[in-house]
Amino acid sequence: MNSNEIEIHKELKKYFGFSQFKGLQEQVITSILGKTNTFVIMPTGGGKSLCYQLPALIQDGTAIVVSPLIALMKNQVDAIRSLSSENGIAHVLNSSLTKTEIAQVKKDITSGLTKLLYVAPESLTKEEYVTFLQSVPISFVAIDEAHCISEWGHDFRPEYRNLKNIIKQLGQVPIIGLTATATPKVQEDILKNLDMSDANTFKASFNRPNLYYEVRTKTKNIESDIIRFIKQHKGKSGIIYCLSRKKVESIAEVLQVNGISAVPYHAGLDAKTRAKHQDMFLMEDVDVVVATIAFGMGIDKPDVRFVIHHDIPKSLESYYQETGRAGRDGGEGHCLAYYSYKDVEKLEKFMSGKPVAEQEIGFALLQEVVAYAETSMSRRKFLLHYFGEEFDGEAGEGADMDDNVRNPKTRIEAKDQVVKL
Ligand code: ADP
Ligand code: MG
Repeated sequence: MNSNEIEIHKELKKYFGFSQFKGLQEQVITSILGKTNTFVIMPTGGGKSLCYQLPALIQDGTAIVVSPLIALMKNQVDAIRSLSSENGIAHVLNSSLTKTEIAQVKKDITSGLTKLLYVAPESLTKEEYVTFLQSVPISFVAIDEAHCISEWGHDFRPEYRNLKNIIKQLGQVPIIGLTATATPKVQEDILKNLDMSDANTFKASFNRPNLYYEVRTKTKNIESDIIRFIKQHKGKSGIIYCLSRKKVESIAEVLQVNGISAVPYHAGLDAKTRAKHQDMFLMEDVDVVVATIAFGMGIDKPDVRFVIHHDIPKSLESYYQETGRAGRDGGEGHCLAYYSYKDVEKLEKFMSGKPVAEQEIGFALLQEVVAYAETSMSRRKFLLHYFGEEFDGEAGEGADMDDNVRNPKTRIEAKDQVVKL
């Protein structure tokens, strides 16, 4: 290790208490410290926050962190403050602050105390803030959840499109984009919109070798099939995703009637019930949560053993995120999706009310899900290919962990049909 490496290891220990970097963190941090534009693609849980937090803490000036969710920003600010004796080390700047609070934030930034300033993209468009930020030293701008800039991502936010213009007004500051969305299309969009084709790009593997992928044809017996599956995984934690709230309710009920401890979770339930059901799942008072996609953001239960999709997801991106909640501890994680073409048509019908451009993207993403469901090749290879990653279907880690590899479908190849004369 050279002196620089020793230095950042020391700072890692000092601030975060970790003795080692995770994955590509060290390379990313070195790139940021070198004042270069940097692009980080790592799966959820990969440790992206530390990639910008550590360099922010050890450099002069304030790092601006753009993040789409106020709740996420607050969590991060609290976490950073707990690492330091100074509350002013991290701040959130948003419209909910009082005049006095804003004055305090500005004071802490001006005095050099604040190392991380979290802002929502819409706050950054406020002229008052931009003028102020022009007058103080900025170490870099980190754009978390950078896929929000792309219509091909799962969470497009138009305000993200203005970011580059605003950052330009701040002078020559390096930009760090971070995302867990690995599709080449989204990555291209991010680099283009942030005008940083020169960025050092760091991409971690998206392979989750301990997850087993399986697709079953959806028949009218789906409910008894799910019950049988759960009974084979007795006492284990699992999530069942359904498209509609109504389905969530009815499946939860069917499971309960069949002696499986399950609770429903969807945005139609009041906040108290949702919190209660989530806690019951986390505390293992129930084994199964039946949910719409409203469930899962920020849920960190390490021993979820199965994720079942009662209905196919609207993109492989979402499928990867949702199944990614299984086997976080590295143990077994069974990802089972039920597929019927009727569901595809249903999703297409949902989309038909949307603007044409959005529809086209929606259809294209859905076609990839169809292809995944219908493929007879390694599902892991298919998924990773979708994320721009070449997977060795023979020898790669987890290569035999899917239904297609374990039970190859019999394929009639054209050459077998040639009648020999
Ligand atoms: P992401 O934003 O990529 O989803 P986070 O930044 O939220 O991931 O980090 C996920 C978890 O990994 C956090 O609990 C964090 O404390 C932990 N973590 C990050 N870096 C390290 C490290 N070097 N060693 C151990 N744990 C780490
Ligand atoms: Mg993150």
